[in-house]
Amino acid sequence: MHGDGTKKFWDEDAAYEFIEQRVWPDGPVCPHCGGIDQIGRLQGQSTRARTYKCYNCRKPFTVKVGTIFEHSKVPMHKWLQAMVLYRRYKHHVNANQVCKVLGVTFKTAKTMLTLIRKRARGRKTTGKEQL
Ligand SMILES: [Zn+2]
Repeated sequence: MHGDGTKKFWDEDAAYEFIEQRVWPDGPVCPHCGGIDQIGRLQGQSTRARTYKCYNCRKPFTVKVGTIFEHSKVPMHKWLQAMVLYRRYKHHVNANQVCKVLGVTFKTAKTMLTLIRKRARGRKTTGKEQL
């Protein structure tokens, strides 16, 4: 996994930044009300990386809302690593490999792969890049 340009996938903040750039190319969008111009980044939260607050509907959010990562406790950078593995090996990658490389449990690896495959299928049908 080293030396293949995936260094950013080993750092949680960098992983969030990467996802944000893809989901929000023009800046954060509130998933609750769709607002774009009254959004502030909440500072000083060590547990939840990169949380934003919409001052239009007054709700906090992260880039995970509405994605396959939303209800996952797996750190974002591990998700990205799993997706790199999946992209590289497609259906040849299995939960055993994922749990070894990522250091997650077999059960978690299995769930992650299921969601990644589901997402890949969804992208094929809509033709859209989604996360
Ligand atoms: Zn809002």
